[in-house]
Amino acid sequence: MNILVTGGAGYIGSITVRRLLEKGYNVVIIDNLSRGNKFSIPDVPFIQCDVADEKVGEVIKQYNIQAVIHFAAYAYVGESVENPGLYFENNLKKSLILLETLRKNNVNKIIFSSTCSTYGDPEIVPITESEKQAPINPYGLTKLLIEKALQVYNKNYGLKFIALRYFNAAGASYDVGEHHRPETHLIPLVLDVAFGRRDKIKIFGNDYPTPDGTCIRDYIHVLDIADAHILALEKLDSISGFYNIGTGKGNSVKEIIEACRKITGHEIPVEIVERRPGDPHVLVADYKKIQQDLGWVPKQDINDIIRDAWHWHNELEKKHLTVVTSGYFDPIHAGHIECIHLAKQLGGKLIVLLNNDQQCALKKGKAFMPLGERKIILEALRDVDEVFISIDEDASVCKSLEALKPDIFAKGGDRLISEIPETPICRRLGIQIIDGLGAKIQSSSDLTGLKQII
Ligand code: UDP
Repeated sequence: MNILVTGGAGYIGSITVRRLLEKGYNVVIIDNLSRGNKFSIPDVPFIQCDVADEKVGEVIKQYNIQAVIHFAAYAYVGESVENPGLYFENNLKKSLILLETLRKNNVNKIIFSSTCSTYGDPEIVPITESEKQAPINPYGLTKLLIEKALQVYNKNYGLKFIALRYFNAAGASYDVGEHHRPETHLIPLVLDVAFGRRDKIKIFGNDYPTPDGTCIRDYIHVLDIADAHILALEKLDSISGFYNIGTGKGNSVKEIIEACRKITGHEIPVEIVERRPGDPHVLVADYKKIQQDLGWVPKQDINDIIRDAWHWHNELEKKHLTVVTSGYFDPIHAGHIECIHLAKQLGGKLIVLLNNDQQCALKKGKAFMPLGERKIILEALRDVDEVFISIDEDASVCKSLEALKPDIFAKGGDRLISEIPETPICRRLGIQIIDGLGAKIQSSSDLTGLKQII
């Protein structure tokens, strides 16, 4: 069977694609890569485009697509509250266009990624599929409206659909883990603290009507979610409807942090802050319906989820990280080479923003390095994947960071993190700043000469 997967470069999408391939399905991915990661795409046909793109019809014809799994969407509750228009455009309008494209091209099977956010603040927990749906954030609302559209398409045009209402997807599988930029989800953020990438985890509110005052969620392993899609595909001929995917067990924010402490062995400092708008206090699934109709049960629990996510953070995430470093490289000095080596250790892909030779030389009042010594620069740059020549201005480094959106900015130079203009940009884009040079060497003038380090 030929399946079109939208959002196949995303976290849940790319893991489901791997599962589909194992089961013998032919998969074609479309993803606009606005949030997905190219490195997550396995070796299948991939077309970089939007779900609302005219190209989608051509892709359907070219690959003789029989069913679609529609993952592509934005999925940050907080962002949807701050910027609802983005969610109406991306999740609602574009999905409606996709439904029309499917109808016009006679594709009559779809699996849709819905969410427990469609329930809002539920009255009865665990939540069954017949609980009233009253979303309290735009993200949930956009998903609910697509659910309604699916029902209409089902009635009017015979579209067969299964909408899976995910609770909180988490964990890692194959070599894919949560890699959102910026990251806003609880478990990866807590693990970042354990890893030393962040100082502390902020708990959004401890005055909710729950036993410890923090919000309760039903965390479900991403592989269990992927398996639900396989079962849904197998049943699409005979069943259309809505299904919860959760474990039936809830964990509070504080319980998650405690479980992460146990599994990682790290102390995880916390800070209690204001509630985050749009957060219901408790979301836990009743999954009897999917168990009965599709034979799905969750196989992993919260400890499996955190263990797999932690393993991924330790072993696998590094190879996907992009690191940018910048600085003067002519004349080159020990700090630069050290910075490049350090930056390479941090991630899989290293980009260097190389300052313009001439300006650099003028600023330093020094002549260019002799040609022979430049070989050393080239040697140092051997581990570098890409080099961009920027002009010798902070503004150009800032612009490059905005364009490249790396995971890590390993800063060179002797200024403090609080002094550099890149810091606010990194904070805004969720780019982590590592003090590549300044932490080790107090001032550029302390640096040893080139010859000493060869
Ligand atoms: N949360 C938190 N601190 C964070 C991120 C999340 O306290 O830095 C809380 C959030 O308020 C919610 C729960 O953790 O109660 C799960 O949030 P997440 O963003 O992971 O998923 P959501 O439930 O919003 O889809």
